[in-house]
Amino acid sequence: MAHAWGYDQQHGPSKWHEHFPIAKGQRQSPIDIVTGSAKVDQALSDKPLKISYSNNCCQSVTNTGHSFQVVVDGAGTEISGGPLDSTYKLVQYHAHWGPLGENVGSEHTVDGVSYPAELHLVHWNQKYKDVTEAVDKPDGLAVIGVFFSRGKEHAGFKPISDLFSKVPRKGDKVDINFNYDPACLLPAQRNYWTYLGSLTTPPLFESVTWIVMKDPVEVSSEQLAALRNLLWETPSGEGQMFNNYRPPQPLHGRVVRST
Ligand SMILES: [Zn+2]
Repeated sequence: MAHAWGYDQQHGPSKWHEHFPIAKGQRQSPIDIVTGSAKVDQALSDKPLKISYSNNCCQSVTNTGHSFQVVVDGAGTEISGGPLDSTYKLVQYHAHWGPLGENVGSEHTVDGVSYPAELHLVHWNQKYKDVTEAVDKPDGLAVIGVFFSRGKEHAGFKPISDLFSKVPRKGDKVDINFNYDPACLLPAQRNYWTYLGSLTTPPLFESVTWIVMKDPVEVSSEQLAALRNLLWETPSGEGQMFNNYRPPQPLHGRVVRST
């Protein structure tokens, strides 16, 4: 079975390499995106990134013990173009966030600056049989990262953030019985950075084409606080879930491309 991992001192990101040696690999995520070093690539704009979801793809919200996870039926979903050589379907989305009221919590940083949270929409390459086969292949996954900044309430995120109080403990699950298109969580302007990286949680497979949206979306302080209705195990017992992010990893010569 999987080794226990988490975000506390004993099982946190600095220890992951003990059971998952790839943690010190050449293609790890997240990274600090140095905007001045990102290479503007006309090819990305010539073949625009297409994102198409559906309003009945979101099946349920689960507390995984490390985040919330919205489980998706990817049948009516598709992303392609941009850095992608084939079609990928959405399988789930989740987030990473920091302490209440602080502007840290995102996994990627931009010129060293963090956001209070980062949403990850996870897609798998349709050239593979299923997500299990795709998850460890170099081109197996494509993850869209969306930064959350603190601002006005996000009407699109509200139906999801309202569900967190219903899944307080690991394994808790609630069905989504309403139409919901996760495209509402994307910024209006879809300029992005892209690079080759990894899962940011064990097993840290180096299988992800990252597409990190440049523009954050605003969510309210209350919506960020609602993430703390999710609980997890801490060394001192049950506690509010936060600081579930991995810090930036070495670039090892990788190029970040930009639209
Ligand atoms: Zn993630």
